[in-house]
Amino acid sequence: MKLLIKGGRIVDPASRRDFRGDILVSDTKIEKIGENVRAHADRVIDADGLVVAPGFIDMHVHLREPGYEEKETIRTGSMSGAKGGFTSLVAMANTNPPIDNAGMVDFVLTRAKETAVVKVFPVAAVSKGLEGKELTEAGELKEAGAVALSDDGHPITDSELMRRALEYAGMFGLPIIVHSEDPQLAGNGSMNEGFNSTVLGLRGIPKAAEEVMLSRDLSIAELTRGRIHFAHISTARSVELIREAKKRRLTVTAETAPHYFSLTDDAVRTYNTNAKMKPPLRGPEDVAAIKRGLADGTLDVVATDHAPHTATEKEVEFDVAPFGIVGLETALPLIITELVEPGVLSLMDAIAKVTINPARILGLPLGELKEGGVADIAIFDPDEEIVIDASAFASLGRNTPFHGLKLKGHALYTIVGGRIVVDEGKLSVP
Ligand SMILES: [Zn+2]
Repeated sequence: MKLLIKGGRIVDPASRRDFRGDILVSDTKIEKIGENVRAHADRVIDADGLVVAPGFIDMHVHLREPGYEEKETIRTGSMSGAKGGFTSLVAMANTNPPIDNAGMVDFVLTRAKETAVVKVFPVAAVSKGLEGKELTEAGELKEAGAVALSDDGHPITDSELMRRALEYAGMFGLPIIVHSEDPQLAGNGSMNEGFNSTVLGLRGIPKAAEEVMLSRDLSIAELTRGRIHFAHISTARSVELIREAKKRRLTVTAETAPHYFSLTDDAVRTYNTNAKMKPPLRGPEDVAAIKRGLADGTLDVVATDHAPHTATEKEVEFDVAPFGIVGLETALPLIITELVEPGVLSLMDAIAKVTINPARILGLPLGELKEGGVADIAIFDPDEEIVIDASAFASLGRNTPFHGLKLKGHALYTIVGGRIVVDEGKLSVP
């Protein structure tokens, strides 16, 4: 099977190439990239006016299977990712049971092989049962196919455990993805602590809840020389702390999510439970700092923290609703509209945040366009205006604060290992 992608704007951050050209895909691999590729192809995609990029990698999603299949399954989550231009999803371990042993890693990989339309890479838990007490077997987990360790959703409060986790995971070359939150400071808060929480009469989560744990983890990273990746950074001070740590050459990397550069806690003013997530939406000064952090490379990655919940779970009072929003089908338009259009990031740098940067952090041989490489490709129209319609999501989750919003950027073709899984914006696989 030969597929020819013709006349697109090829943007490949790994090689820093940005030019108009063609890509010839032969079976699962990229055979040729160039300016005038001639070949007899079984299928030609006219990419004139479109951007041709490496398939996106989302290094932070919650696929909910096993245990919460009413929220999402590996299959529906993978379909949601495909519609958003993602060819690889990195699935967090807080399922039920959690992914804390080799058998569970194998379960996720097997289910993904049987049902998913994109690639799925499991993250395994740092501690058994995500309880923060006893370390999992990093070596066995790595061997089974885990790409990182994380207790995401549950902060690791025991500093000594964090130290040993970093030392142990480091021996196997596994990064630890950290959910920085001091549970006592966060308490029963449901939104950012500040003016809005006072006006709304809701209990707040101070920015310090994130920052004190992040500071601690930076100290432990320095002590152990371990590899920490900070998940979902939300505050200005966190960005500053990471920037300073990188200057001192600590081996830390970090991600933020599209909602932290798109929204402030004003979005909570209607008590919209679809604007409730952890960490919570912050203030305008934080949004500005997140953008600066993305621009200067302090924040390496944009990851969605895709966290589907059922409508019934979210249709309750704000303070009792679960935390989390879906993100796979809104990430690209938010990146284009909030970062690329206003000039915060070049298209090249924006694409790097969802391709080669997460690939390098996780050691995946993906996230780039090169001859002989895997044909994971995202083709999108950066100029097309779309209206976000949650009811049309492939995800089972409809919990998005962006419903009804008009944005720019439409994922039109998603190609996974040479197979077209999204064709002209629609899922094309059974
Ligand atoms: Zn988290």
